[in-house]
Formats: sequence, structure tokens, C-alpha cells
Amino acid sequence: MAFKPANNIQDLQYFGEFGGVNPSISDSSTYTFLSAKTMFDTFEGNADGCYLYSRHSTPSNLYLGKALAAMEGTETANVTASGMGAITAVLMQLCGAGDHIVSSRTIYGGTYAFLKNFTPRFNIETSFVDITKLEAVEAAITPKTKVLYCESVSNPLLEVADIEALSKLAKKHNLKLVVDNTFSPLSISPAQLGADIVIHSLTKFINGSSDTVGGVICGTQEFIDDLRNVNDGACMLLGSTMDSLRAASILKNLRTLHIRMQQHSLNATYLADRFEKDGLKTVYPGLASHPSHDLFKSMMNEKYGFGGMLTIDVGSLDKANALMELMQKQNLGYLAVSLGFYKTLFSAPGSSTSSEIPEEEQKEMGLSDGLIRFSIGLDADIERTYDMMKSCMKALNILK
Ligand code: PLP
Repeated sequence: MAFKPANNIQDLQYFGEFGGVNPSISDSSTYTFLSAKTMFDTFEGNADGCYLYSRHSTPSNLYLGKALAAMEGTETANVTASGMGAITAVLMQLCGAGDHIVSSRTIYGGTYAFLKNFTPRFNIETSFVDITKLEAVEAAITPKTKVLYCESVSNPLLEVADIEALSKLAKKHNLKLVVDNTFSPLSISPAQLGADIVIHSLTKFINGSSDTVGGVICGTQEFIDDLRNVNDGACMLLGSTMDSLRAASILKNLRTLHIRMQQHSLNATYLADRFEKDGLKTVYPGLASHPSHDLFKSMMNEKYGFGGMLTIDVGSLDKANALMELMQKQNLGYLAVSLGFYKTLFSAPGSSTSSEIPEEEQKEMGLSDGLIRFSIGLDADIERTYDMMKSCMKALNILK
């Protein structure tokens, strides 16, 4: 039977402490024990169902984790205070001094900076490769490699990873395949395609209201238990814990994700199609011209479309900046980083979210100055949005 992520979320049943339709929020940082022995056992990890201290876990965080695990089809999940809190904890848990990571070179700038500048302090080295070239990925693997890291759909270039093929490579070389699925929730289910660990920044589409940061790690019970281990678990010891109030609010937003993703995808498809026909250099996985269009199609849960992210290249940073300022003035969206909001958000990644990547490397990976990344909103009338965007482009001589 086909994997149905939204059904999996809907099929969960919650009863609040007083019979409420939403689970009660656990508003405590610490928990009492009826016996000292149970407290000791809980520290040792042997007292299932007991809560110890909120950095370890809380009922609210477990509810949200359960829903996200259901969405990705993994045994369980652990929520974190941010997407970076998830990424850094996973990599620090899987790698130690002397280990090596093979990573896609087109990834979120913060992840890139962490791997390029931070982990070498712990003698963890990373080789950055073109993830769409499987020979290059395999050639970069050494006896020290522990992790293969990529984004399903990459930030900002929208390259698509062949998760099934990468999973085969990972298994062959005994590596863990870690996939950041932030750009394609519901559309792609990496664990179903063989990923060992799936990460999201909940800050983006999943929460969808640009009012909080959050993250999640979806994986096996064994790995999540390792992360929470009081003696050597990266989530427990690095402390990127989500607050219970936030977990409760994200859980409520998650329930409308399937409807929002459909609308984001519908609107992005419409705009990408029109922009391309107008002669703009447009990148969107839903376009037949995208080099990995067929691959995305072969991996996707069709109902949710090709996602809300697209890029256009308007030729220069000056033009990109002028267009973004004008579009904001016309209330077509906000000149802001991040993604997954009800309004369209746009930014020039070369000078913002990917500025951690040195200019030379940006050039090599095809990240040009005139590139604008759009996170397309939930506009009710996308034809009107298109007409207004086109007027802005005409006013600035980007389109004739
Ligand atoms: N992964 C991707 C693909 C992102 O775009 C981002 C943030 O922009 C992150 C991870 C980091 O998430 P957070 O900002 O929640 O720490």
C-alpha cells in the first residue's frame, strides 16, 4: 500500500488530561517520583513512561515527536529547539574525532558553516560533493566516513537527491544516510526511500506561521534513545531542547500541513510555469526542464506536489535587490529569509542564507548573484499575484 503521511498524522488520537481534544501542555521543568528507586531507574534509562527533567523529554514534546514520526514513517522522533539543534546533535552523535562526513555541497548555509568551520575543531572533516553525481559521492567515501548527508531538495539551488540510490551506497559502505527534508515535507518521505535519519527545521513549512524556531530528528528508537542518553546523548548534553508550549503550538499547526503544502505547490507550479514561459531562468522541480524532474516524480507522494520553493535568476544582484524591494512595496510578499509562510518570502541567497559559502564555491555550484529564492505563499488568487509580479519585472526592465 502507498505510504500516506497525512493519514498517519490524522489517525493519531489524543485525549487531554481533562478530556480536552488537545493534549494538556506539560508546564513543568521537573517531575516528582513516588519512590527514590524509580528516580534511579529513570536515570539509568529503565523506567519507561516516567518523566525526569524537561531537557530529557516532556509529554508535550513526545506528542509532537510522535506525530512527526508518523509523518515520516519512522519508529520515533525527538524534537529540538531549532533545525540547527537537530542537525548539530545528529552529526555530533554519529561522529567523533578522526571521522569523516560526505555531504552535498548545496545545503543550507548554516549546515555548511557547521561542517566547514566548526566540526574540524573536533577533528571531523567533511568532503563536499555534487550529490547528483553518484560516482563523485562514492569516490569521496573513505574508510573514516561515517555519514552521508544531504537535503532531499537543496537550499537554495533545489537540487534533488536520489535518496534510494544514496541509501544503497550508504548500506554498501556501512554509513548512516542523514536527510534534511525541510523543503519537501509530505511530498517526499526519505525514510521510506531508505534514509536512516530524517531531519526537519520545523521553523519552516511544518509550523508554517513564522512565529517560532524548532527542529526534529526522526529515526529508530535505538538512535533516539542514544540522543537522549543522560551520559553521552547529544540532545541531552548539548541542550537544544524544545519548550513544551512551543511543542503544543507546532502540533496544532502540523494538522493543516497537508492542505497548506497542496496550496504552496499549486501556487508555485503556476508561477514557475508562467515565469519560464516569459523567458525567465526558472528552477522548480515541477518543471519538465528541471534536471531531476523525473527523479522527484518517482519519489514523491503525488498529492502534495513539488513544493513551494522556486528560484529565478534576474542577472545581477542589483536587479534582484530592486525587484525584491519593489515586490515588497506592492505587498506581494516580504524581503525576508526563511520559508513556509502564508505570504511569499523572497531573498537573494548569495548575500543572505548562503553567504557563509565562499564566493568561489558559490560560483562553482552555480549560485549566481542574480538568483532570487522564493518561498511561495498561500495566495488565494495566484493569477493576480503573477500579473502584479510581471508588472514589477516590466517596470525594472527584467521582462519586456
Ligand atoms: N535546514 C534547512 C534546509 C534550512 O533552510 C534551515 C534554515 O533556514 C535549517 C535547516 C536550519 O533550521 P533552523 O533555522 O530552524 O535552525
